[in-house]
Amino acid sequence: MTRIEIPSETLLVEMGEDGLNILETTMQMSCRDESAPVECDICSKPLGKMKDVKHIESPESITIAVRNGFKPEQMLKTTENMLKEQGEEKPAEIMELVLDSWKSIVDKSETPWALCEECYKSIQIYIKKRGS
Ligand SMILES: [Zn+2]
Repeated sequence: MTRIEIPSETLLVEMGEDGLNILETTMQMSCRDESAPVECDICSKPLGKMKDVKHIESPESITIAVRNGFKPEQMLKTTENMLKEQGEEKPAEIMELVLDSWKSIVDKSETPWALCEECYKSIQIYIKKRGS
């Protein structure tokens, strides 16, 4: 059994005889107040306090970026490394699930996303692909 933590969701997966099963997904509802520390919603990098966050994107923009091919590279890399550390034999299969699950989080998201400098820059490229 493998527990995978990705921003705002925890997946519990198990390699069964007929492939990979998701046993459980837990959405972590984060409530934010002015003084609470904020993490980048894509890569979980600490951003300081809410008032210090420079880049906020609407959930619509994130959805557009994902439709245009944006992937949360940093988050995927962290997750893959974590799986390898856990001795996972088929990280590639789990990574597909992680990405699918992340995309469904994006679809369901109704609150603005706080982004770090790097994620903001990489997502802008995909948002601007719109219509081209
Ligand atoms: Zn980030």
